[in-house]
Amino acid sequence: MIHFTVASDGDMRGDLAARAEISARLGIDSSWATVDQVHGAEVRYVDRPGSAGPADGLFTDRRRLPVAIFTADCFPVVLVASGGIGIAHAGWRGTVAGVVSSLRGAMAAAGLEPVHAKIGPGIHACCFEVGPEVSARFPEHLSETTWGSPSVDLLGALQDQLADLPVVVEGSCTYCGDNTFSYRRDVTTRRMGAIAWIP
Ligand SMILES: [Zn+2]
Repeated sequence: MIHFTVASDGDMRGDLAARAEISARLGIDSSWATVDQVHGAEVRYVDRPGSAGPADGLFTDRRRLPVAIFTADCFPVVLVASGGIGIAHAGWRGTVAGVVSSLRGAMAAAGLEPVHAKIGPGIHACCFEVGPEVSARFPEHLSETTWGSPSVDLLGALQDQLADLPVVVEGSCTYCGDNTFSYRRDVTTRRMGAIAWIP
């Protein structure tokens, strides 16, 4: 199961009461397995709640253990396998570093080959204005913001990395959408949660 929270659900990274509330609504334990997100490509296997340390992806084969990442413009990417589920935090740095393929490879090596994927809300090409140092990393995904400056289609880059899997995209652009946290727009520490679990 996969759930992406919205801003009105509260700050899923910093507010444990908000986590408890959404967990009750979803019928899951309020103790989630997480990682200390660092915009890299490290991935951890987890079998218990709490932080598994510095990484940007985590996966489990344990039933009813929620795995979660926190975003405000970066994309949550969920990989679903038979008997396993994994989730990655993919901003432009993590996407360049290959966090999604890193997660997929780690899951496959554990016998949990992903069979489909879901990508949640993040900053879309309409608003992801970038300088030359970022656009140079995405030569095949250059785009333009709605105000006419250079941008990168990070969502398209992630979809291409998963081109051989069925991928569902859910949620709007975090920058111009309603009820989303956007680090770029608000310079906020608040984060939405992407939560995945095996029922
Ligand atoms: Zn937008």
